[in-house]
Amino acid sequence: MRTDIKSMYLNELEDMLKKLGEQKYRALQIFKWLHEGVNSFDEMTNISQKLRQTLGENCYISNAAIEKKLISSYDDTRKYLFSFVDGECVESVLMKYHHGYTSCISTQVGCKMGCTFCATGKSGFSRNLTASEMIAQLQSEQRDNNIRISNVVLMGMGEPLDNFDNVIRFLRLVTDENGMNIGMRHISLSTCGIVPRIYELADMKLQLTLSVSLHAPNDEIRSRTMPINRRYDMESLLEACRYYCRQTGRRISFEYAMIDGINDSDSSAAELGKRLNGIIAHVNLIPVNSVKGTGYRKSKRDRMESFIRVLAKSGITATIRRTLGSDINASCGQLRRQAAEQA
Ligand code: SAH
Ligand code: SF4
Repeated sequence: MRTDIKSMYLNELEDMLKKLGEQKYRALQIFKWLHEGVNSFDEMTNISQKLRQTLGENCYISNAAIEKKLISSYDDTRKYLFSFVDGECVESVLMKYHHGYTSCISTQVGCKMGCTFCATGKSGFSRNLTASEMIAQLQSEQRDNNIRISNVVLMGMGEPLDNFDNVIRFLRLVTDENGMNIGMRHISLSTCGIVPRIYELADMKLQLTLSVSLHAPNDEIRSRTMPINRRYDMESLLEACRYYCRQTGRRISFEYAMIDGINDSDSSAAELGKRLNGIIAHVNLIPVNSVKGTGYRKSKRDRMESFIRVLAKSGITATIRRTLGSDINASCGQLRRQAAEQA
C-alpha cells in the first residue's frame, strides 16, 4: 500500500522524509509541487532523481481524471465527471461569477443519507473521498481551463460531515499558504444536519460559511423527504445552528428546495419564519430540480415570491438562487446516475 502523499500535512511530510533519511526542508519543496498540481514525481525538478524514485516507490499522487465534460451553452458553467485510481467517479461543477471562479466539489462517492429529492441519494454510497481527491477535483478544473479557483463549495455528491476527518484535512490543506491558499471565508460547507458534527465544527471556529439544507418548516414534512431528520429532529438541528452562530459569529445560510405542493405554501413560510426566529439566517430558495423517479416538480415563480413575502414578515431575508447550467443537469448526482444507467 503506497501512501497518499497529497493528503499529508507539511509536518507529516517532514516526518516521513526524516524516516527516509532526507533533510527536512525538502518537505516544503515537495508540498509546494503537490499543491501546484503536478501529477508525477518527475516534474519535481528541484528534487534529486534518487529521492523522486524513492517517493514513487512509497507514495502515489491522487489525480481526478476527466471522464466527461459538459459545457452549458447558457452561461459557460462546466460540469465534470471525474474518476479516481480505483475507477470510482464523482461530479464537480465549475461556475464563473463576476468575482471569479467557484468550484462545487464532491466529498463522497454517493451518499448514505437518502434524501428523496436527491439524485446522489438515490444511487447509494460507495466510499469516502480522501482529502487529496477533493483537492484533485479543483486542480483538474484549474488545469483544464487555465484558471485559478477562488471559491469552493462542498455541495457536490456526498454529505461532508459524514466524512468529517477527511473534509477537515481538506479544509486545512486547501487554505494552507504554501498550498492553494484559498481563504477559509471563500469556502462553504453544506450539510443535511448531522447535529453532533455541527457542534464539533462550531468548536473549531473556522471562518467558513455553513449552509444547512433545511427544505421543510417542520418535522412532519422534513422526515418525509430527509431521513436524517428522524435521527436529529429540527429543534435539535436549529439548536446546533444557534450554537454555531454563537461560537463562530458567522451567519448561517439555509437551503430550501421548493417542491410544488409539498413545502411551498404560505403557511409553510410562516412556520419556517417562526422556527428561524433568533438565528442570524439567510434563506436560499432553490426551485427543486426534477430527478427521474421522484415525481417532484419545482414550485411556480409566483409561489416562491409569495413565500418570500411571508418570510419577510418574520424578518427573515430570502432570495431565489440563480440556477446556473440548467441545460447540463448541473445539480450534482445527475451525471453519474446517467453514466451508470448507460453502462
Ligand atoms: N449533502 C449535503 C451537500 C450536498 S447536496 C447537503 O445535503 O447539504 C447540495 C445541496 O443540493 C443540498 O442543499 C441539497 O439538499 C440540494 N439538492 C439535492 N438534490 C436537489 C434537487 N433535486 N433539487 C434542488 N436541490 C437539491
Ligand atoms: Fe446526501 Fe445531500 Fe443528497 Fe441528502 S441532499 S442524499 S445529504 S447529497
